Amino acid sequence: MKIAFLTLGCKLNYAETSTYERGFLQAGWEAVSPKEKADVYLINTCSVTATSDSKSRNLIRKVHRLNPLAYIVVTGCSAQLRRQEIEGIDGVSRVFGAHEKQNVVSETLEAVRGGHGFRSAATAGTDGVFGAFSTGERTRSFLKVQDGCSNCCAYCTVPYARGESRNIPISECLAGARAIAAEGVKEIVLTGVNTGDFGRTTGESFPDLLKALNEVEGIERYRISSIEPNLLTEETVAWIASGTKFQPHFHIPLQSGSDEILRKMGRRYDTAAFYDKLSMVRRLMEAPGRLKVFFGIDLMTGLPGESEALFRESCDFVRSCAPAFIHVFPYSRRPGTPAASMPGQVSEEVKRERVAVLEELCAELHGDFVAAHRGMHARVLFESKEKDGSMGGYTENYIRVTRPWDPSLSGQIADVVI
Ligand code: SF4
Repeated sequence: MKIAFLTLGCKLNYAETSTYERGFLQAGWEAVSPKEKADVYLINTCSVTATSDSKSRNLIRKVHRLNPLAYIVVTGCSAQLRRQEIEGIDGVSRVFGAHEKQNVVSETLEAVRGGHGFRSAATAGTDGVFGAFSTGERTRSFLKVQDGCSNCCAYCTVPYARGESRNIPISECLAGARAIAAEGVKEIVLTGVNTGDFGRTTGESFPDLLKALNEVEGIERYRISSIEPNLLTEETVAWIASGTKFQPHFHIPLQSGSDEILRKMGRRYDTAAFYDKLSMVRRLMEAPGRLKVFFGIDLMTGLPGESEALFRESCDFVRSCAPAFIHVFPYSRRPGTPAASMPGQVSEEVKRERVAVLEELCAELHGDFVAAHRGMHARVLFESKEKDGSMGGYTENYIRVTRPWDPSLSGQIADVVI
């Protein structure tokens, strides 16, 4: 049987698709390109913005045109949030919601072996946490350690799409890390929706998870894909700074540099607390002559009520934090969220202008961050792809570097001068 996989969205989705793929390959199926005619198409959807929803629907229609007889499986956040709508699209055979992921492979194998069948009555509420990790990439792998979120930020649909916060037991995370190491991969990116909230369903703690993973043979580097500022504790940072495999690289969602907007969003910190958090990490992890910590921050613009003055306030605060990178998001009005009915909705045109301002600020801050490391020594994990006679990789603090292609360095960590 030929199956093709199409994935939209975040690292979590890629780890989950990669795990589904391993299940079908173990069953003797062949994975083919989504451009090819396949017997089954599995689409892992995203619903973070209205655009991602429509992209998800378009992918379904595209593969149905490619093979009108194919069995089409739809999973992911759009499948959870827009189930009926998706079940109504021509060609859709089976939709799996957030709590049915562990059944995707087994039920699809059964359905296809048992011949085509359309089933709408989904079994909801099986609260298992679907463990997942990505493979097939020689340099780094995404390891899912947590899912869902129990916060309810005013603009966000993720808790509705992925459910309440829950985590994979440490023992299963370790098994995943060892399987990744067995593939010769040296770097793991811990991923989740609210990764720092690890331990909510097993009673284990986030620091315990990090300490256990740090002992896994073969893995030389870990990165934490994203962690809420209020969940990054001094204890964790002090341990990371004590000489571990966890890199000086933190992705921390700020969302706004205005306290008034943070309150509207329902975020759990203000700008002073956020600034103190970065200062704490810098105090524990930075020293003259040492690589600086790479802070990547998420920043949203255009939340209802974000006046020009509040936007300027947000920009000034971000500049004072001097992050290395800003992931910029225009606010997307999501049905069912508190922000969707807030007064003072900002026009798409104004959002586009503000995104452009923030992307310019990001380019400036990132340029300053990289320039500050010129001439410094670093260790780079080189990727296995040759491009135009050169190869690339990331330093410990996530600076991208390139050098002339040398196959002996592919997938290896090497000393460099930036
Ligand atoms: S913490 Fe993140 S995932 Fe959770 S509700 Fe807020 S924005 Fe959404």
